[in-house]
Amino acid sequence: MKNKSNYNFLLSDLSNLKGVGPKITKLLKKKKINNIFDLLWKLPKSYTDRSLSSKIKDLRIGENQTVTIIPQKYLFPRIKNLPNRVLCSDETGNLDCIFFNSYEGYVKKILPLGKEVTVSGKVSIFKKKYQITNPKYVSEDAAIIQQKHNQYSLTDGITEKVYNKIINQIINKLPRLEEWHSKDILKKFNNISWNDSIKELHKAENIGKYKDNFYQRLAFDEIFSTFLVNSEIRKKIKRNKKKNKILYKKKQEVLISELDFSLTSDQIKALNEINDDLCSSNKMFRLLQGDVGSGKTIVSLIAGFNSVNSGFQVAFMAPTEILAKQHYNLAQKIMPKNFKMNFISGKLTYQNKKKILNDLENHRIDIIFGTHAIFQKRVFFKKLGLIIIDEQHKFGVNQRKKLSDKGGDNCDILLMTATPIPRTLTMTMYGDMDVSIIREKPKSRKPIKTYSKIENKIDDVIKFIKNEIKNGNQIFWVCPLIEESKKIDHASSVKKFDYLSKIFPNQVLLLHGKTEPELKEKILNNFLDNKFKILVSTTIIEVGIDFPNANVIIIENANKFGLSQLHQLRGRVGRGDKNSSCILMFKSNLSENAKKRINILKDSNDGFLISEEDMKIRGFGDILGFKQSGIKNFKLADPVHNKDLFILAENEMKRIERSNEDISKFTTLIKLYDRADIINDIV
Ligand code: ADP
Ligand code: MG
Repeated sequence: MKNKSNYNFLLSDLSNLKGVGPKITKLLKKKKINNIFDLLWKLPKSYTDRSLSSKIKDLRIGENQTVTIIPQKYLFPRIKNLPNRVLCSDETGNLDCIFFNSYEGYVKKILPLGKEVTVSGKVSIFKKKYQITNPKYVSEDAAIIQQKHNQYSLTDGITEKVYNKIINQIINKLPRLEEWHSKDILKKFNNISWNDSIKELHKAENIGKYKDNFYQRLAFDEIFSTFLVNSEIRKKIKRNKKKNKILYKKKQEVLISELDFSLTSDQIKALNEINDDLCSSNKMFRLLQGDVGSGKTIVSLIAGFNSVNSGFQVAFMAPTEILAKQHYNLAQKIMPKNFKMNFISGKLTYQNKKKILNDLENHRIDIIFGTHAIFQKRVFFKKLGLIIIDEQHKFGVNQRKKLSDKGGDNCDILLMTATPIPRTLTMTMYGDMDVSIIREKPKSRKPIKTYSKIENKIDDVIKFIKNEIKNGNQIFWVCPLIEESKKIDHASSVKKFDYLSKIFPNQVLLLHGKTEPELKEKILNNFLDNKFKILVSTTIIEVGIDFPNANVIIIENANKFGLSQLHQLRGRVGRGDKNSSCILMFKSNLSENAKKRINILKDSNDGFLISEEDMKIRGFGDILGFKQSGIKNFKLADPVHNKDLFILAENEMKRIERSNEDISKFTTLIKLYDRADIINDIV
């Protein structure tokens, strides 16, 4: 209990601190600093060393210095705009303190005549005399001034002095928390406690010492708490028992043998992992991660096939109708004729929809396809056994957990994402799930040739695509923005559409963010049916749609995109067995650095490798817009620089899982670091 009250101080309101009133509380809240714990992570950016005091004769002009003096005489001019002046001295010389916009009473109070006072500020010389203008610190207690004063970048409206006072108060009151880490882990950080680490973190001279024990320990705490929470969620989901499914191996073999390709070994491995989960009596909560075009759909459909054979219903959801429809069409091709399948669309008449809902409730449908909206409405299944969700990378942990609760008693869950991300991030973002990875692409795939082209060579590009069209191929043309913006020099898709339509009359389609959903579907279908040759669009086309006949993609202003995003865009072509190309267009010649970046893309078609490189260049928050995806931002830890700590945290978490260790000793850690709703469920 003592422990609990200890950490409660850290989670308590800022107004508990001396000198923090409503005004400062409000300023800090604006910076998302809501309690004392949050303040701990606003680190000093630099500091001014005021610890050394000198005599007046030794002062150095132009530097911040500290000096102890005796005020001798006030000169308060009666003329407006002239500063107040206090003549001071020590035994070695004279110095004036100058105050602009000050009250006489204030000056008299801080610099009383005849008393020793310490001042600190920038020293200048004026008419051969030393002076300090508006000294930053003035005090009769030299000790308050003679130290290192931290400067924080987030202190708009709060003076450095006040901020330091607040932080020092916290540091002095830091509770001793009972150690939560095992001896082995602690040893790796030279046994430094959390409490001491925080103290070190705020020492001015420790700025930037990322490799030191105190910093590493705190970064590890942060990573480990995330993993621990993930692990608890996963355990919790798995604790839910379900009726196991039965795998009819022969039937599966027949289905696979009838496909017009053979599965890659990664596909088979993923399928086996999924089948094991289906046949277990614990609920499955698995992510199938694979690069664009790696063939996830077929794996998930076979899992669906197995579930139906085992007597269950399956729900297959995709983010858009067109994608859901595409999966539905594929299923109709490969599933046995006696399977009852349907597609639920927002456009269905009330009558039709009612019938489908009724069929689901009475198990007259085995597999239903639709958008994520399937589950937002009141839909009942007679015997739902598997939910498959495509392209789910926009879901956060909370949403995923809700989903697993909603599926019902016997429901397994398979999520799919075409977003290859570095391992450190997979553990962070998807640690609440088991993960299957498809790394290898089908062998029939030809690598996409990637070129860069400067914009004024557009005629070469036109010539190139004329030839491709002559050979029966189709082209994607990607522009970053919808309308010309004066501020940002982005290419405009509307303008490009007009331009291309003149060269290729009646062969160009345009799609952008403002296109109505129904029109959009029509446009995409027209393109799929090869009625048009070029599709000009912003980046909005779903990653998942399969256009095997399109084999050229042109990406304008390619430097506006990250490598992973370019790779994803590029993945829209090269799905058939034709040679395909990706042309990256640039406004001006590439810098050496940009060339290096683009070369990564030219040399590799491995999304995992590319995302790793991308993360090194751009930081993890930027890759593929993870900032919006609900992934929590680390305060100190960094998936690029602290890879070893991520691995250490994973191993420690696995050790705890294996030994079934009681995690209550981590309560403080989790409560401090992770205050999401889910936590209340766990600890
Ligand atoms: P993604 O993983 O991006 O969802 P898809 O499942 O849409 O990829 O598969 C892309 C294309 O590859 C589809 O046309 C699919 O039929 C095909 N495909 C899947 N697996 C194989 C394979 N083992 N060999 C050849 N083609 C395959
Ligand atoms: Mg897909």
